[in-house]
Amino acid sequence: MSRIAYVNGRYLPYREAEVHIDDRGYQFSDGVYEVVGLVNGRLFDEEPHWDRLNRSLKELSMPWPMSRAAFRLVVREVIRRNRVKNGIVYVQVNRGIAVRDHPFPKNAVPTLVITSRRSNPAAAAAQAKGVAVISVPDIRWKRCDIKTIGLLPNVLARQAAREAGAVEAWMVSPDGLVTEGAATNAWIVTEDNKLITRGTDTSILWGITRGSVAAVARKAGVKLVERPFSLAEAKKAREAFITSTTSFVTPVVKIDRTKIGGGKPGPLTRKLQDWYRTYLARQGAAA
Ligand code: PMP
Repeated sequence: MSRIAYVNGRYLPYREAEVHIDDRGYQFSDGVYEVVGLVNGRLFDEEPHWDRLNRSLKELSMPWPMSRAAFRLVVREVIRRNRVKNGIVYVQVNRGIAVRDHPFPKNAVPTLVITSRRSNPAAAAAQAKGVAVISVPDIRWKRCDIKTIGLLPNVLARQAAREAGAVEAWMVSPDGLVTEGAATNAWIVTEDNKLITRGTDTSILWGITRGSVAAVARKAGVKLVERPFSLAEAKKAREAFITSTTSFVTPVVKIDRTKIGGGKPGPLTRKLQDWYRTYLARQGAAA
């Protein structure tokens, strides 16, 4: 089936879907994006994703490309035209097209691109078996809470993971603390069964899955502490896992050369997977 992309007001076949070379996303990575998941034909945690898009736009003084109500309709139309039931919708908003000059252009019209695609079957296997992660230095800027398209450090981190036979890279700041994965948030379970993940500071993206998993954990009575943890602490952890829209709750069974939980997904991680699935099912989606 041929795929359709929405580009600035038009639904186009993929090979015709293009943006101008003077688009500031292309020139400066001057744009933001969102990825929302679809399970059984339903978008899940939809409004928190649009709230985060709203925040990213605001932090960069960019306007919404259209009203939020109209935008929600276009998103649904892209999903419908691509016949996606399980997968994602991708949204990118750039500042617009202007002659290359660093300051914001006056009167630029934002570029809006929306695509949708089916989920990667590898994700389900990873959730069942767990994955290996490697550690890399966090070389990013100081506003990782904004979901910008400037992802080169994340690209390099993921490539390093792939070359090492791992699935994700945990980024470590100079003080030895884990910030997050290249495209996931990082979690550990301590010896005394406390669930630990970094708090929502500007050094990480405030993952929507992170927020939902934190909420279901708290509701189930799990002791959750939002604080930074070091790479050394992670390697001694009882369990570890990652969260994101596309990986849900995925166990981490190896960090660099150190096996976690004997190389098997841990019991609390398994429970969190179940609770998160129930949480999705309540929204009309079931993973
Ligand atoms: N951190 C980074 C750097 C990411 O790119 C992502 C994926 N968007 C996440 C965390 C997880 O966020 P979410 O749960 O909203 O997908």
